[in-house]
Amino acid sequence: MQPARAYVGIGSNLDNPIDQVQRAFRALADILATCCVARSPLYRTAPVGGPAGQPDYINAVAALDTGLTPKQLLMVLQALELAHGRNRTVRWGARTLDLDLLLYDQITSDDPWLTLPHPRLHERAFVLYPLYDIAPALTIPGRGRLSELLANCSQRTVTRLDSEN
Ligand code: AMP
Repeated sequence: MQPARAYVGIGSNLDNPIDQVQRAFRALADILATCCVARSPLYRTAPVGGPAGQPDYINAVAALDTGLTPKQLLMVLQALELAHGRNRTVRWGARTLDLDLLLYDQITSDDPWLTLPHPRLHERAFVLYPLYDIAPALTIPGRGRLSELLANCSQRTVTRLDSEN
């Protein structure tokens, strides 16, 4: 059976975030029945929402080829967040590691536990920029071409960390 192509958003703003994101890339490559086929550059991003005074985030996107189902993959991502010490007490608060399943092939789902594409993907510069770096021709189901979403994105508060990737 052909593997599915999934895209995972990675974010961290605690405990050496650059190192957390690099460790997350390695952990994603080790998932059962899954290969990491592309890693985006890292971006530094001012926090969106949540309590004031949070540190900046480091964000990136990984492309995976996987034999897992979408729900299996999300369960693994949630286990990795816990293994990396994520604290879920404050919504949109600081976190050691946040992993979002952005896309899984062209599948759509409105299940609140697993919404596909990720419900806020299309409006987040810190997702659109790294996703465009590794998959510029992508179309987001229900949202259109990635290049157009990026051109229309009002947030510009992301900085690419070329030297640190
Ligand atoms: P967050 O705290 O922003 O990481 O949100 C986590 C919650 O969103 C969990 O309850 C997930 O089940 C749910 N969720 C829904 N769709 C997705 C998705 N595409 N990727 C990651 N989490 C999702």
